Amino acid sequence: MAAPLQAHSHKAAVFLDRDGVLNRVLLRDGKPYPPTSLADFVILPGAPEACRLLKERGFYLIVVTNQPDVGRGTLKQELVEAIHAHMQRLLPIDRVEVSYDSGDENPPSEFRKPCPGMLLRAARELGLDLSRSFMVGDRWRDIDCGHAAGCTTILVDYAYAEELRQSPHHRVKSLREAADVILRLEPLLS
Ligand SMILES: [Mg+2]
Repeated sequence: MAAPLQAHSHKAAVFLDRDGVLNRVLLRDGKPYPPTSLADFVILPGAPEACRLLKERGFYLIVVTNQPDVGRGTLKQELVEAIHAHMQRLLPIDRVEVSYDSGDENPPSEFRKPCPGMLLRAARELGLDLSRSFMVGDRWRDIDCGHAAGCTTILVDYAYAEELRQSPHHRVKSLREAADVILRLEPLLS
C-alpha cells in the first residue's frame, strides 16, 4: 500500500488537446477551426474507448485547450463552458484547462500553448510527473507545448495545411491509436 503522502508522487497524465483530438474540427482551406455551437461539438470515433483505456491504466486525463476566439470577442465564454460541461458528461475527463488568451498579448501568455503554463499548473496542483506524462495534439502548438513541459509528444496527424515546428515523438491517425502507443510505452517510463 502506498503511503498517503506519496499517493500522487508517481502520477502521470495524458494531456489532451480538444479540437481534432476529442472532437471533430470544422475545416476551412485545409485548416482546423473549433465548433461554434453545442450542435457542432461531435466526439470523434474511438475517443470514448481511448479515454476509458487510459483511465483504466491510471492516467489523469486533462484537456488543455486554446480558445482564442473568446479573447478576440468572437466566441462567448459561456458557450465554451457549456461545451466543456457536455464533454465531461460524455468522457471521463478529470480536469479542463482553457486559455482564453487572444494570442495578441505582449508579452505572450505563459498559459497559451505553445507555452506550457496549463500543463505546469495542473502538474503542480495534482503532483504529476511530467516526464511520465504525454501530450496528444493535432497542431504544432500542442507538440511544442508538450516538449516545453518535458512530456512525450504524440501528433494526431491530419496533414493540415500548416507546418510543424518541432517534431513529435510519435505520429498517429487518431486518439484511439495514440492510446495504444501510450499503453505500450507507459511500462518503459516507470
Ligand atoms: Mg487541436
